[in-house]
Amino acid sequence: MSDIVIQPGTIWLVGAGPGDPDLLTRKAEKLIRAASVIFYDALVGKGVLELAPQSARLVPVGKRSGRHSKDQRSINDMLVDAALAGERAVRLKGGDVGIFGRAAEEMDTLAEHGIDCHICPGITAASAAAASAGISLTLRGLARKLVFVTAHAKAGEELDLDWQALADPKATLAIYMGKAAATTISRQLVDAGLAEDTPVLLIENASLPEERQFSTRLDLLALSAKSALGAGPALMLIGEAVRQRRTASDLSFACIGPPPNRAPFCH
Ligand code: SAH
Repeated sequence: MSDIVIQPGTIWLVGAGPGDPDLLTRKAEKLIRAASVIFYDALVGKGVLELAPQSARLVPVGKRSGRHSKDQRSINDMLVDAALAGERAVRLKGGDVGIFGRAAEEMDTLAEHGIDCHICPGITAASAAAASAGISLTLRGLARKLVFVTAHAKAGEELDLDWQALADPKATLAIYMGKAAATTISRQLVDAGLAEDTPVLLIENASLPEERQFSTRLDLLALSAKSALGAGPALMLIGEAVRQRRTASDLSFACIGPPPNRAPFCH
């Protein structure tokens, strides 16, 4: 197994995966262990942070909607300062670095300052959620397309998505940050032609001990999200692929409303 050395004055953007430390890549773990300072997001799992050496400075820069957070510019500045101070800096992001993680802004700022920056990918929430639910995100002939989409809108702004393109019965939609927009998502997709009984899986805290999963259907999505989801991060998987759920053993599964057709493992 190769050793990884972080050159002082460089930054590694590291994907921390969905929360379970066993879902870290080996490279991510090595980088965490080699860091002198770690800037981490709110969704980085506790078990992941526990891998940091005692000597490392852990700096929370988390963003959870509506709560205290550092703005992106302050985070960029902190990364630049750490690199210029010769730190071995890791910027730890939940899931994969390149998926709804604002990595490009950080990389642009670092490049402007001539700072070397590297990326270590991570397992994104959609992959972890699909694994827990025992589904394949693509299905031969039935789900030929996989769309990662964020339903996060700026405060006071409408969700600006191409609903017609998203309402594809042969696609699986993995919707990140969708809780607050559940009503809009459900209405717009149905209006754009997606069947009301299209199966939906809501997964909260994927890969963590608190994980919970709920089966529902598109027309009941808003109600389900409101009644079933708590404060944890949650992902929505929408499309025919969701019908194929195969993990029967997990009693945390629940169905909300009439179960999607052929969902054999609803309790
Ligand atoms: N870069 C991350 C996504 C960051 S956006 C990734 O690749 O996974 C944050 C959103 O990701 C959350 O609002 C939620 O929709 C989703 N998410 C992150 N971790 C999750 C988890 N453990 N379970 C369910 N959804 C999660």
